[in-house]
Amino acid sequence: MKKKILACLLILFPIFSLGIAKADTVKSKYIIASDSSFAPFVFQNSNNEYTGIDMDLIKAIAKDQGFEIEITNPGFDAAISAVQAGQADGIIAGMSVTDARKATFDFSDSYYTANTILGVKESSTIASYEDLKDKTVGVKNGTASQTFLTENQSKYGYKIKTFSDGASMYDSLNTGAIDAVMDDEPVLKYSISQGQKLKTPITGTPIGETAFAVKKGSNPELIQMFNKGLANLKANGEFQKILDKYLASGAATTSTSTVDETTIWGLLQNNYKQLLSGLGITLALALISFAIAIVIGIIFGMFSVSPYKSLRLISEIFVDVIRGIPLMILAAFIFWGIPNFIESITGQQSPINDFVAGTIALSLNAAAYIAEIVRGGIQAVPVGQMEASRSLGISYGKTMRKIILPQATKLMLPNFVNQFVIALKDTTIVSAIGLVELFQTGKIIIARNYQSFKMYAILAIFYLVIITLLTRLAKRLEKRIR
Ligand code: GLN
Repeated sequence: MKKKILACLLILFPIFSLGIAKADTVKSKYIIASDSSFAPFVFQNSNNEYTGIDMDLIKAIAKDQGFEIEITNPGFDAAISAVQAGQADGIIAGMSVTDARKATFDFSDSYYTANTILGVKESSTIASYEDLKDKTVGVKNGTASQTFLTENQSKYGYKIKTFSDGASMYDSLNTGAIDAVMDDEPVLKYSISQGQKLKTPITGTPIGETAFAVKKGSNPELIQMFNKGLANLKANGEFQKILDKYLASGAATTSTSTVDETTIWGLLQNNYKQLLSGLGITLALALISFAIAIVIGIIFGMFSVSPYKSLRLISEIFVDVIRGIPLMILAAFIFWGIPNFIESITGQQSPINDFVAGTIALSLNAAAYIAEIVRGGIQAVPVGQMEASRSLGISYGKTMRKIILPQATKLMLPNFVNQFVIALKDTTIVSAIGLVELFQTGKIIIARNYQSFKMYAILAIFYLVIITLLTRLAKRLEKRIR
């Protein structure tokens, strides 16, 4: 009987997967991933919308070819990972066509050509690569500029500092934390044209054509549509219009804001909607994951004081494993690692939503600590009580429920409140998978206006107020329960 079922499954599986693969070839909507700050190709305007050559181009092509798109802007490195993990169908992010990338991506026809070039502060004395000896050069992770820097590092003897986004890299250059940056020439030139006090002392090095890409072998129709659309836009002059919009003098800028974003008030006025939505995500993440963590944590906590050795062992392994893995790695593992693993086995892309992945990571993480809080609380109740109750013939379960847990809960409560505060702060860590919670929202805003001092101060106050309010509330609840 068992064998028959197995045989059936074996036959059915390929049929099912064939069916899915077919339906996949033309999608009702394509998810396109992009950079978060890479002006003039993609950047946020003062209305907090993503614009730029790439954004206009992909929208115009989708319109021309009649397909639906949804654009996400997690940053270059994360966008690349998203396409490789199947979370996105294509990437448009001023991406260079390099030989190494051709092994993992299929590229469209090119729509631009870029060099990589060194950028330094206007006042800097660096004038050649030789001058970089013992200096620190910043670069964005996963970029062609990074490859260039790594390849030439031993020759010139500089240090490399890697950034996940352009905004923090340029911020670090402005504050003097790094001595130079390596980035695409049009991007550096654009920021200089926007008034950034930078210069490019050395001529650039070609890194290849700029093109749209999909994961190698997947969504071939997307590349075809892109190429056809691009050709149409070139023929009817619309492509040139898009370029002119951002590159001609007096073109669209990153700071056309009517509100002055150099004051805290202006920043709040112009970004409150975005900040509130980020705050909403942060709260949802913290509350949902903490609720799940309490359930899992209590289960494992009870296991850890159980009279059965196997249950104690299971609990111990869970706590050790989760506590032993940094939260950021856990989140990355769930968001990128597991879909990648499933795909390598089944051949099917099975992306996981970033919010879900973040919630799972936070839940597991907090559950491990809560399990320990529960264990500690129960063990703090003198053993004599359990023994006395059992000797009166009362069952283990009943003693737990009626005698031990009511006392233990009181001991645990302050620790729960503490753990919740930690969980709320930990939400900032899962922003690493591109989740736009409060911290990421702030970073995106800074990417546009470079107001890092004021913006981080605003974020700090946001968290401070929320955490203070929530702890007050929790203390009140705690009192009531006592
Ligand atoms: N053109 C560079 C690359 O492809 C940088 C792209 C980017 O940072 N968005 O590596």
